[in-house]
Amino acid sequence: MIPFAGNPLNRASEKRTDTNWIESKRRDPSSLVLPMRRLEPFLLEPGRSDPSTRLGLLRPEVADSLADGDAPCIFLGLDGDIAVFALDISEASDPANGGPLAGLGFFRDARTAAQIVSIKDAAIIAQAKSMIDWHQRHGFCPRCGAPTKMVDAGYRRLCGKCNAEHFPRVDPVVIMLATDGDACLIGRGKQFPPGMFSALAGFIEPGETIEEAVRRELMEEASVKVGEVTYYATQPWPFPSSLMIGCFAKAESRDTKVDDNELAEVRWLERSVARALIAGKQAAGIRIPPPIAIAHHLLKTWALGED
Ligand SMILES: [Zn+2]
Repeated sequence: MIPFAGNPLNRASEKRTDTNWIESKRRDPSSLVLPMRRLEPFLLEPGRSDPSTRLGLLRPEVADSLADGDAPCIFLGLDGDIAVFALDISEASDPANGGPLAGLGFFRDARTAAQIVSIKDAAIIAQAKSMIDWHQRHGFCPRCGAPTKMVDAGYRRLCGKCNAEHFPRVDPVVIMLATDGDACLIGRGKQFPPGMFSALAGFIEPGETIEEAVRRELMEEASVKVGEVTYYATQPWPFPSSLMIGCFAKAESRDTKVDDNELAEVRWLERSVARALIAGKQAAGIRIPPPIAIAHHLLKTWALGED
C-alpha cells in the first residue's frame, strides 16, 4: 500500500447534510476528534504496552477544551459506529506544552507523521490535512469576494452574498516513469539535494487527459517522445491537495534534452542499478525518494518486474 492511500473510514457522505445527526455525533462521548494545529496532526507518544506512534484521537470533551466553539470541525467518517472528526485548533497555543494534552503526545507535520504512524492513520492524516487546509484558504468567495461559511460537515462552503457553492478541491498530478527496455528516465529537480533523482511529474491542465499530460510533460521537461501510457496507481498527496497519478510510458528513443527551467538533469537509469537502489544499496551516486513517495513505488515496480 502506498502511504496516504487506504483510508479505513467509511466517509458516510449521505450523513453530511443531516445537521442533527452530525451535531449529536459531535457531542457523543464515544466519538473521536483529531486535533490539527497549523496543519499538523496530534500524535500519541508511544506507550510501554504499545510501542507504535498512533493518531491522537481524543474524546470530544477533551478536544473542545483546546479551541473555542467556532473552530472548524470536519466530519471525516465512521469507524464502525464511531464518528471521527478533525478539529482545527490552529488558534490555540501549543497545547502539548500544558493543559489536557501535556505529556500525551506531540504535533508533527504530515510528511513526518505519515512515516511514523500506520498506513491507515497516515491516510486519515491526508484527508484531515487537505480538508482543513482548503477551509483555511477559502474564507472568501472567488466569485464575489464576500465571506463564505462552512456547511455539510466541512464538504461545502457557501457564499453568504451570491450563494455560490464551493467544494473541496483535488489537484491531479501525473507522475511517470518513461521506460525503454532495461532503462527508465529519472530527473533531478533544481531544488533537489545533490544526487537525488525522481520520476518526472506535472499538473494536469484543464481540458487534458492523463495520457496527454504524461506525453506533454515528458516532451516539455526532457524532450522524450513516448507511445503507450499505462496507469499504475494513485496516491493522495496532501500538500496541499494533490492526487498523484502514477503511470508508465514507453519511450520511443533515449534522446533527451533537459528543460533547464524545470530540471537540473535527466538520466536513463539501468534496471540493475534501480534494483540496487531499491534494496537500499549505494549505486552510481544516486539517491531515490523514500517509500512515502509514489515515485519510489513506480521505480520499485518497474525495477523488480520484467520489461
Ligand atoms: Zn459570492
